[in-house]
Amino acid sequence: MIVHIPHSSRLISAEYTKQFVVSDARLQHEMNVMVDSFTDELFEFDCADENVRTIVFPVCRLLVDPERFADDSLEAMSKKGMGVLYSKTYKGGPLRRRLDEEERRELLEKYYFPHQKSVSDAVREEFRESGSSLVLDGHSFPSRPLPCHDDQTEPTPDFLPWDRFISHARKIDGNNRTENQRVGLHGRNQSPFCRCVCSV
Ligand SMILES: [Zn+2]
Repeated sequence: MIVHIPHSSRLISAEYTKQFVVSDARLQHEMNVMVDSFTDELFEFDCADENVRTIVFPVCRLLVDPERFADDSLEAMSKKGMGVLYSKTYKGGPLRRRLDEEERRELLEKYYFPHQKSVSDAVREEFRESGSSLVLDGHSFPSRPLPCHDDQTEPTPDFLPWDRFISHARKIDGNNRTENQRVGLHGRNQSPFCRCVCSV
């Protein structure tokens, strides 16, 4: 199994902080809201005897978001200034100045493409070893929708446990409802987020 942690880092190196047009305090606030804090610890497996490989994206999603398409024309969130290189805050205000092509290429080549390659290599390796590959994508999100979310239904669920591609979704749904009620958790299928990172 490959554990992919895309959004836990708060790291923006000094050479790039000057791209941002908000105060340090505002940038910290934006990170508090947007970073999936502690997911690198939450999804930490005691994998001494298991074949688990964890891949953590090393820099903050506000600098480069590895779970966006590199081509803005394919990326729905780019319309909100939250494509692979964010330009707007979660409230839609200005976050970062306009980057030229050279700056964009540098960031993608330094962080985005190497990360995609490491995920793809891990998937290929797992396929080679076992004939299949499972990617667990480790996120967290707030209990209320953010202004940038398409789905504004409250409250946001505690977890998104299943996918339309799971053939026995109805059975899993029913089983989980009982268990969810017992432990007081609230799951919701495909909402407010759907789909998963894929190996490219
Ligand atoms: Zn996330």
